[in-house]
Amino acid sequence: MNLTKFKSKPLLLLAALMIIAVAAAAVTPLPQNIDPTPGKAVEVSSDNPPVSDNAQAKVVKNHAISEGDTLEGIAVKYNIDVDTILGANPTIDENNLQIGDQLIILPSKGVIHTADMGDTLWSIANDYSIDIAAIMAANAKTSEALAIDEKLFVPGGKPLPKAETVVARADYQVSRSSASRFLWPAGGSISSQFGYRWGRLHAGIDIADDIGTPVVAAMAGRVVSTNWQSGYGYTVVIEHSRGYETLYGHLSEFAVSSGQYVRAGQTVAYMGNTGYSTGPHLHFEVHQGGRVIDPLNVLP
Ligand SMILES: [Zn+2]
Repeated sequence: MNLTKFKSKPLLLLAALMIIAVAAAAVTPLPQNIDPTPGKAVEVSSDNPPVSDNAQAKVVKNHAISEGDTLEGIAVKYNIDVDTILGANPTIDENNLQIGDQLIILPSKGVIHTADMGDTLWSIANDYSIDIAAIMAANAKTSEALAIDEKLFVPGGKPLPKAETVVARADYQVSRSSASRFLWPAGGSISSQFGYRWGRLHAGIDIADDIGTPVVAAMAGRVVSTNWQSGYGYTVVIEHSRGYETLYGHLSEFAVSSGQYVRAGQTVAYMGNTGYSTGPHLHFEVHQGGRVIDPLNVLP
C-alpha cells in the first residue's frame, strides 16, 4: 500500500510536466532559422572534439600513469609506439611503472634527442637516418645552429643504441662519437700527395686502384653536385657539417644524385679515369670554409 502511494507521486508529477511541455510546444512557435531535426542538433553539439584533437596532435603532452596502464596501452591511446615512449622517457622502468609518474608523450612516432658537445644537425640527421629538413621543420628551427643540451624532436627516429653496442649493428657504419670524423674515401695506394708540383697546387690526394673501386662519403653530408667538371671528369661534391666540403674526381660512375643525404662510408661513386687523368685513380679534395686543405690533415 505504502509503496504504491509513494510511487504514484512522481508519476503524477511526470504527467503534469508532460502536459506543460506539450502545451508549451503548442503555444511557442519555433524560430524559422533553427532546424528542429534531432540529428542536426547532435551534430552541432559534438562539433568541437575532432578539431581540438588535431590541434593537440602537434604538441608534446604529458600522461600521468594510472592504475592498469601499460606502455602498449598508452602507445595505442596516443597513436605512437612503445619505442617512442621509451625514447622520450629514458628514466622510466617499463616493467615497474609507478602510478602518478608523468610520461612525456611525443606528437608522433620519434624520439627526443638532447644535443651533446660536438653534435650538429648533420650528425644527428645521420645518426637517425633522417633529413635535416625534417628535423628543422619538426622543431620550427630556422637555422642549423645548435646549442648544447638543446632538445630536438626527431620525427620517425628510433632510440639510438647505447654507444658500446653501436659497433655490433651492421647498419651503423660509424659510432656516434666518430660521426664528425673523416673516413678514407677509397681503398688503394696514394699515388700523389697534396701540395705544389711543377709550380701548381695539387689540391688533393690521388688514391689509385682499379676502375670500379667503390668511392665512399668521407663524412655524412649532402650531395651538392654530381656532374662533369673540367679536368676532374665525373665529379661528386658533398657538403658536411662545420663548413667542410669534399670532392671526388675522375669517377667512372655515380651512385648518388644531387641533393641526397649520405652517411659516412656510403658508396657515392666508383673510381675511374675520366677528365685529365693518367690512369685509374680517385682525386680527393677537402675544403674547409671555402679553402682547400691537405686531406691527410683530417684523414685518420
Ligand atoms: Zn689529383
